[in-house]
Amino acid sequence: MCNEPKESYCNSHSVPQFSLKTIAENGKLLQSAALLNAASLEDKKGVKNSGVFHIICNSCDKLYFRDYENIDNIVKKPTDKIMGQIAVKNFLLQISKRLAEQNLYQEQFRKINRSITFESKLEDINLDLKDYFLDYEINKDVVDNNRKNAYHILFWDILPYKIPIASQGAITLKKDYKNYPVNNVYDTSPDICMQSFHLLTLPLENQSVVLAFYHKKDKLYSQLRHQLNSIKKEDVLKYLNYIIFKETENYYISTKIEEKIFSNKRLLELAAEHNELPNLGMVNLFNLHNYKPVEIDEIPNLLSEEWAL
Ligand SMILES: [Zn+2]
Repeated sequence: MCNEPKESYCNSHSVPQFSLKTIAENGKLLQSAALLNAASLEDKKGVKNSGVFHIICNSCDKLYFRDYENIDNIVKKPTDKIMGQIAVKNFLLQISKRLAEQNLYQEQFRKINRSITFESKLEDINLDLKDYFLDYEINKDVVDNNRKNAYHILFWDILPYKIPIASQGAITLKKDYKNYPVNNVYDTSPDICMQSFHLLTLPLENQSVVLAFYHKKDKLYSQLRHQLNSIKKEDVLKYLNYIIFKETENYYISTKIEEKIFSNKRLLELAAEHNELPNLGMVNLFNLHNYKPVEIDEIPNLLSEEWAL
């Protein structure tokens, strides 16, 4: 971010630490990876290692996100600056994930298997990286130059109770609330940019922040905005809760509700869905024909008061 050569990088949190701390038990949190492998409960990590990535230098990490990583600011109606900082953080996390995958596949490609599969995977990663870098620049420009009216808020509320799940991320939706298409993720033509929206759920001591927004250039989300504006708040929360499990992996759950989570088969199946296929998309003929994608009414709404800690 500062364009200076650095020797080391910060333990950057993709979800603010102050929020993770409020739902941790003995400093531990349930990671999304644990839901994919319910038998192994080793996927509990401390707050310090939850959702961290390493591509931001120490001084940038301290300076750049200080408005949004501040409890006093995050409980107020979000400004363009705050949303800009959240979006920049989200795209840096996506970039860091894709760079790691790129390394992995390049290594495989060189060492083991010069197959077309690896080559096409690398092409997909490069396309994603191009989109994410562009979005990173656009949102950084909002913050750096104090731009106004850059975002549309899809939903914002301060809930008067503590939810058991902290999450934050950029999401590329394929279908909206009424199942109309949003992004065509199979269109790999280089001039098409995927459009993302941002979602965060932050538990605090006695309340919780739920915020969803998108950059105004990402017009594919205007339909979703109208849909969410015309339904009850409870139904918006239910939908956002479903999206967290269906589309994201950057969420952290209080271990206090661990048993209830692991006893809910459909919730675990939803967490493991990839493009509506079970088992992270690694299917055999049996589950390809027999699996029904999990629907919104089949899972508990962790953002509702019923699940408050
Ligand atoms: Zn820096």
